Amino acid sequence: MTDRFLEGRRALVTGATSGIGLAVARALAAAGAHVQINGLGDAGQVEAALAAVRAAGDPGALHHGADLRDPAAIRAMMALAGPLDVLVNNAGVQFTSPLGSLPDERWDQILAINLSACFHTLKAVLPGMQARGFGRVVNIASVHGLVASVAKAPYVAAKHGLVGLSKVAALEAAAAGSRESGGVTVNCVCPGWVETALIEPQIAARAAQAGGDREAGIRALLAEKQPSGRMALPEEIAALVLFLCRRAAHNINGAALPVDGGWTAQ
Ligand code: NAD
Repeated sequence: MTDRFLEGRRALVTGATSGIGLAVARALAAAGAHVQINGLGDAGQVEAALAAVRAAGDPGALHHGADLRDPAAIRAMMALAGPLDVLVNNAGVQFTSPLGSLPDERWDQILAINLSACFHTLKAVLPGMQARGFGRVVNIASVHGLVASVAKAPYVAAKHGLVGLSKVAALEAAAAGSRESGGVTVNCVCPGWVETALIEPQIAARAAQAGGDREAGIRALLAEKQPSGRMALPEEIAALVLFLCRRAAHNINGAALPVDGGWTAQ
């Protein structure tokens, strides 16, 4: 039986209509949390995501359609969401281009979703968590919060920024609560390659170079940077997020934890 250690806790996961966010939302629901999800998608995709979270363990799971490029929409979502014990800033977008030809609006979009939105949600939840003595903020950054790659300037800038923002929030919240209450922590999880829709364009580009062979495209991506040669699954990222939500993780704070098959060890 699943250990429902989050029974009575309230969680919000951004970007949870697919990929890593959906896996995290399901894991939190299975652990007993009331889960609110945010994310874009058509009605069918939103309903499918909600159905998955409800089936995982929270029949009352809700969806907020806020577009995270819009700070006013984020503030409205956070007001509707109410007090939260767990916040997972997961929504993110990618676009690859050399700096010289990067459209200005792509820079603005990626910084808004991958970084500024996390500031707005954090700002809304942190004081309440500190006052109650328990809170968990997990920001899904990336190996690109720790190291760079070519053609990913806005993504790398935003993810490095997210690691820095998380460290400041971790310090500001560090003394809140107690070992018994669980304290308030703010951490980043930094995945390497994870099998989701986000990286499909990059797989497709490599597959095209390999004469349309998708598996060869994946192998080429992994061989370049991820020594394990294996992609992670969204559920594996969710398992780490879930551990960070445990009371026993009260002293893991301000960390940026790689899940990258050795990428950043090189
Ligand atoms: P995904 O494309 O499957 O999911 C992205 C989610 O973000 C979706 O729910 C989407 O609706 C949501 N989103 C996008 N723009 C939004 C907006 N304007 N407003 C609200 N929601 C929005 O991608 P994923 O791979 O699951 O990515 C999740 C996170 O993991 C991202 O922050 C990404 O940078 C990070 N990450 C992914 C990988 C990987 O290899 N897949 C590696 C490292 C980090």
